Amino acid sequence: MAKEILPEDLFSNSENKINLQLLIYNQLANHNLQATKTLCGVYALRQITGGIKYLAGNNVISEQTQIDFSIQLKNFLIHIIYESDFAQTTELKKCENCGFKRLCNR
Ligand code: SF4
Repeated sequence: MAKEILPEDLFSNSENKINLQLLIYNQLANHNLQATKTLCGVYALRQITGGIKYLAGNNVISEQTQIDFSIQLKNFLIHIIYESDFAQTTELKKCENCGFKRLCNR
């Protein structure tokens, strides 16, 4: 189960963006509501009659999967914070509606 939820390209393949988003929400929920078990799922608005599509079937995400995801998330954050070169765009028009412009001093 963990392998299906945590593919090798979880952080790099946009096809995994829903799984990634759900796993981050799960991480936050479990961190803040430690005694609560959470199911992660989405309503696909285009197929609303299909109900909720759960990330791990009808099961809570296993503790091992949460640990594995936590390690991957930390490694990813370390990579983007300390090892990636961030360059501000030269196209200032893009900055006008960017949510990070205060952080960027733009
Ligand atoms: S403000 Fe946004 S768009 Fe502009 S350089 Fe920063 S991150 Fe990029």
